Amino acid sequence: MYSKLNTCVLQGLKGNIVEVETDLARGMPVFNIVGLADTAIKESKERVRAAIKNSGYDFPLSRITINLAPANLRKEGSQMDLAIAMGILISNGVVDYNTSQDTVFLGELSLDGKVNSIDGALPMIISLRELNISKCIIPYDNREECGVITDIEIIPVKSLKEVVDYLNKDLIINPFTRVENPSQKENYYDIDFSDIKGQEGLKRALEVAAAGGHNLLITGPPGSGKTMAVRRLPTILPNLTLEESIEVTKIYSVAGLLKKKELIKERPFRAPHHTSSSISLIGGGRIPRPGEVSLAHNGVLFLDELPEFKKTTLEVLRQPMEDGEVNISRINASLSYPSEFMLVASMNPCPCGYLGDPLHECKCSQRDIQRYLGKISHPLLDRIDIHLEVQPVKYDDLKTEINGESSSQIRDRVKRAREIQLDRFRRDKIYTNAQMSNKLIKKYCNLSPSSEKIMAQGFKKYKFSARTYNKILRVSRTIADLAGERDITDSHVLEALRYRSLNINQWG
Ligand SMILES: [Zn+2]
Repeated sequence: MYSKLNTCVLQGLKGNIVEVETDLARGMPVFNIVGLADTAIKESKERVRAAIKNSGYDFPLSRITINLAPANLRKEGSQMDLAIAMGILISNGVVDYNTSQDTVFLGELSLDGKVNSIDGALPMIISLRELNISKCIIPYDNREECGVITDIEIIPVKSLKEVVDYLNKDLIINPFTRVENPSQKENYYDIDFSDIKGQEGLKRALEVAAAGGHNLLITGPPGSGKTMAVRRLPTILPNLTLEESIEVTKIYSVAGLLKKKELIKERPFRAPHHTSSSISLIGGGRIPRPGEVSLAHNGVLFLDELPEFKKTTLEVLRQPMEDGEVNISRINASLSYPSEFMLVASMNPCPCGYLGDPLHECKCSQRDIQRYLGKISHPLLDRIDIHLEVQPVKYDDLKTEINGESSSQIRDRVKRAREIQLDRFRRDKIYTNAQMSNKLIKKYCNLSPSSEKIMAQGFKKYKFSARTYNKILRVSRTIADLAGERDITDSHVLEALRYRSLNINQWG
């Protein structure tokens, strides 16, 4: 009595089919599973045994051998429980099942026979569709997340008994589908730019950064509302497209962070603490998980108190920022997670935080300040176009009843500026001004003689480097795009020059 059916395991975001072969033979009752690597699957033996009994079926008193193939594939996760239990029930004649069917079984079993939700359901379904699987039996609680995928029949189930009844045609379960394009709806956020009191300069810098995809460093004393404002940055970025939304959801699904088990519609905002390890930032581990850079994919990665991060930790950000993905090597396998994010970092101007504050006295020596600034990673600074200095929020601004612009008003301008960039770069294989190479800067950022003069004066005064020159041009281009103007004018250059914090400038 032999049976064969399919389940799935993930490598990174890629799903692989695993065949579950079950053989029931006479002899001493034993239950062996071969072809596994992970202890989680050994535990699945106990769940499968209890779930079968507690669903009202006999657990066969035979020699049960289950082989998970291919043997060389690492198998991790509890999603194989359902396929293992069904293999036993089919081999034992409880279910009438044609083993040539291209159906895949996914689900974790609880001891009472319920089918529990699993991590990584969406990336599995997407991979299975690409592998020409036509039907997938999945946990009921994963249905919303998987329902956006078409061309594959999704059968949501709540219990082992339901699966048996469904396959025996004693129960009809309609395939689940729900197609909703997240970009059609407008507001998903419960925070808004209009919550920010005062800080017009900071709000404007965030708008410019969002419009051109520029990374941003903010310097300012404690209590200047840096964190509060940066948290609202995702709300002025264009809404996620369906494709982007699926990409983000896949990552959160694999990470086990998909709380509502449905498609994510907000752009991610991640703010790892400065004590975070390299692995938690870029991902990996014994059972690999996406790190913060991937959880921030299509959204914002915020590094608060940048100088407090270990230099070695920040060094690992280099590769994902350059490639837009993280590669993790493992024995027998390598996997990758996407990591396209906007970087925002913030820091105090000096160790005590009050340098340049009109109301407080800074007690730091010049040496303290130099050492503090010296802690910032240079390769990271190289990738940051906008350096902004902010002042504490004014008391009058805090008391004001006047609300500033809403996120959706600002988002409309950002969207228009992004459309201009998409059109400009349609043959250049980039999307935003921040991605412009030196060659493209030459092509698209011409300055009038008077703007050149302003630039030259700025350089003389602040001793900018050649690299800084290009950063100012990129940002000027974005400011012109936000204004809907074809040419970069004096006022655009003047504003871009303001986004060079003087202290930091000596390094970047
Ligand atoms: Zn100080």
